[in-house]
Amino acid sequence: MVFERMNRVVIHYHEIALKRGNRSSFVTQLADNINGILRGTGIRRVRAAPGRLIVHLKPQADWPEISRRLHWVFGIANYALAFRSRRNIDDITATALEAVDGRRCASFAIRTRRADKGFPMQSPEISTIVGRAVQDRLQTRVDLDNPELTVNIEVLPREAFVSLERLPGPGGLPVGSSGLAVSLLSGGIDSPVAAYRMMGRGCRLEFVHFHGAPYQDRTSRDKVTELTRLLTRHQLHSRLHLVAFGEVQRQIVTAVRRPFRVVLYRRMMVRIAETIAAKIGAGALVTGESLGQVASQTLANLTVVEHAATLPLLRPLIGMDKNEITAQAERIGTYEISIQPDQDCCQLFVPRHPTTRMTVDEALEAEATLDIPGMIEHALSETVQMEFEFPETSSIKSGPLLTSPVVGTATGEEL
Ligand code: ATP
Ligand code: MG
Repeated sequence: MVFERMNRVVIHYHEIALKRGNRSSFVTQLADNINGILRGTGIRRVRAAPGRLIVHLKPQADWPEISRRLHWVFGIANYALAFRSRRNIDDITATALEAVDGRRCASFAIRTRRADKGFPMQSPEISTIVGRAVQDRLQTRVDLDNPELTVNIEVLPREAFVSLERLPGPGGLPVGSSGLAVSLLSGGIDSPVAAYRMMGRGCRLEFVHFHGAPYQDRTSRDKVTELTRLLTRHQLHSRLHLVAFGEVQRQIVTAVRRPFRVVLYRRMMVRIAETIAAKIGAGALVTGESLGQVASQTLANLTVVEHAATLPLLRPLIGMDKNEITAQAERIGTYEISIQPDQDCCQLFVPRHPTTRMTVDEALEAEATLDIPGMIEHALSETVQMEFEFPETSSIKSGPLLTSPVVGTATGEEL
């Protein structure tokens, strides 16, 4: 009965975005994303109210599922299941009493916010009047600092809302509000966290993974497929480009001294990812690099990698240490997938200790004998795409990959 009357969700977004002078496109994007993710959970519609979004629920709406999903929507600061009330103090008080009915608590507080400055009472006055009525009903004390129960009242120009429990959203900006980027996803711990953080800044992402076929098995592809499936809940639709990179690596190996190979692999990854970015109109590349974490990520080597790029190379983890990154991977659910063993193409044909101090000149000299455009073209011809949807409406569509045989499984061996 009470749940049937609690048939709205009030969603607050981060104020930071509103400073950018594009409030309405931000709100429209957030509303679209919320509409998309709540498909099939029993919502009627999502609409904008001043400073908030309001979701209308059907009587049979699945609130636990709605709540679980809202937790993944970037741009949401917090959300609450709410009662709607008419915009006068008597109705607001009656609605608050209905909301707290049957609750037992040692202390409570009323918190009122007015988005409608035309309302005849100010927020403290509303809180006092409703607070007295609630105190009579619950026979409990007011504690403004550390209440066990908080009753939130929001007065808007045409209606009011009463809610009890505000749940935190992930914050950030709605996916789609900062353009499109290509995210290099390796199957390790770092790159999914980097992708998550860029989605949290409003970037829509397409993913690219390089695997060692025909010299390695498909374990890294399976991991990246799982990671993409998980990350898709933050952007509802993803495309994963799976690039067979073994042939490119073989050519690098024939031309380049061992300590230089990893850095040259990276430069080729950047070039291929950029070609994909150009095709889809993406404006940046994203990697999970963190300064000094491994030999290939010294300042000198990052410079050489970046030199192969013309688009901005975004490295959201650059200043994070491994513990911070791992903790975030655990929180967002990618860690368990990332630690599964796989065959990582960067370990193919490379020494245990690659160079930490390559220069751009050395890279250019090493690459002089390579047919770079031909290698890019070949790699792209060996690329398949997979599409992902959240909520999953059908099984994953994919190119020929799933039926392709695994040829050879050599790792770390000289050709
Ligand atoms: P990760 O955990 O993301 O693999 P890492 O610390 O192991 O990171 P590296 O293996 O040096 O770092 O890779 C640095 C970055 O280069 C990765 O975060 C990723 O963005 C990109 N990268 C490396 N290997 C691949 C790959 N096989 N496919 C796609 N991107 C890759
Ligand atoms: Mg790695």
